[in-house]
Amino acid sequence: MAKRTYTAEEYRDTVAALLPPLPVVALPLADCLGLVLAEDVVARVSLPPFDNSAMDGYAVRAADIARAPVTLPVADDIPAGRTDVQPLEPGTAHRIMTGAPLPPGADAVVQVELTDAGTETVHITASVPAGKHLRRTGEDVVEGVTVLHAGTVLGPPQLGLAAAVGLGTLPVRRPPRVIVLSTGSELVAAGEPLPPGHIYESNSVLIAAAVREIGGTATVLRFVPDDVDKFRAVVAEHAPGADLLITSGGVSAGAYEVVKDAMTGHGVEFVRVAMQPGGPQGFGIFLGLPVLTLPGNPVSAALSFELFVRPALLGALGHRVVDRPRAKARAVLEMTSPGTKTQYRRGRHDDGVVEVVPVGGPGSHLLSAFAASNCLIEIPMGVEQVRAGDEVTLILLD
Ligand code: AMP
Ligand code: MG
Repeated sequence: MAKRTYTAEEYRDTVAALLPPLPVVALPLADCLGLVLAEDVVARVSLPPFDNSAMDGYAVRAADIARAPVTLPVADDIPAGRTDVQPLEPGTAHRIMTGAPLPPGADAVVQVELTDAGTETVHITASVPAGKHLRRTGEDVVEGVTVLHAGTVLGPPQLGLAAAVGLGTLPVRRPPRVIVLSTGSELVAAGEPLPPGHIYESNSVLIAAAVREIGGTATVLRFVPDDVDKFRAVVAEHAPGADLLITSGGVSAGAYEVVKDAMTGHGVEFVRVAMQPGGPQGFGIFLGLPVLTLPGNPVSAALSFELFVRPALLGALGHRVVDRPRAKARAVLEMTSPGTKTQYRRGRHDDGVVEVVPVGGPGSHLLSAFAASNCLIEIPMGVEQVRAGDEVTLILLD
């Protein structure tokens, strides 16, 4: 049976449909960075929770210092965190620190810089109007209101706000647990001696990092030898609890294609995507686990992750924006493309995204060119030649 051929867009949607939304869990704030809030959350307390001082200085009645300079007795000393604050009697001042509760009766704080900083009496050199340097209850957030909405990507400010309104955990779609498995009897881990005929394994390092970058956890299983039974046994052992298996290698046209041999007829379909590089792809459910089989060449694997896996995982995490931004720029050099496929060239654009220079050739093994690029240049099907000065579409990776 002839393999089905997908366009890159069709395959992107097929991969996205394979991954259901991840379950919603309550995670401690420290584990929420970069995740997506799954439900609206409301403030447990107002912000500020009580009237307090915005300055180090003296809580006063503004009327008592209207004719400054004046000297007032200091009746109390209120550091931040004090709970037994006494009312301010007319004609007196309380020394007060930033964030300390305002004593009843006070209607202004005069900053320490306008005083002699006294502790028994205080000499105040200038008046301040009523309301000065006060932070009123609920000025920022009122208790019970929705402070963060479902769909919000949780960055540092959002996490800080959640903590400030008393939320110790947030409901998020939990990080995907991804198994990253590389195959190939020629692969050796970086740092080990390199025997003749072997290469250093890099796909699992790149893919696991890309999974972590979007908030997932990656379990790396490397160097599964080109042996069907061992392959199945390794997957079966690690499948429970995982959300996705990503393999690389073993899916092209040659013999000893272990991934293909192990999974064909067992829920995984091997197809072609009309793109270069990255044509041979596979997807399905193997031993109950969603699986994506990426081609082995390092740039093919990286591009497949970028174009298909990344948007699918971001979608499962609840992100509304799952695609990289695109832009148009002028090609600085000529490029050729097969025309029958979408070609993704690696490129570097300038700061203003006005011009783009292709980095390296179209070859799927040119990893250093990929590492030196900050965008992909998409040459659509039907285009065989891009001339210097032509406008091209970029997928921005930076
Ligand atoms: P394959 O699809 O298994 O035939 O692999 C295609 C090419 O990619 C071969 O040159 C492999 O040696 C190389 N390759 C496969 N897997 C990896 C990997 N994990 N890291 C680096 N190169 C790989
Ligand atoms: Mg191989």
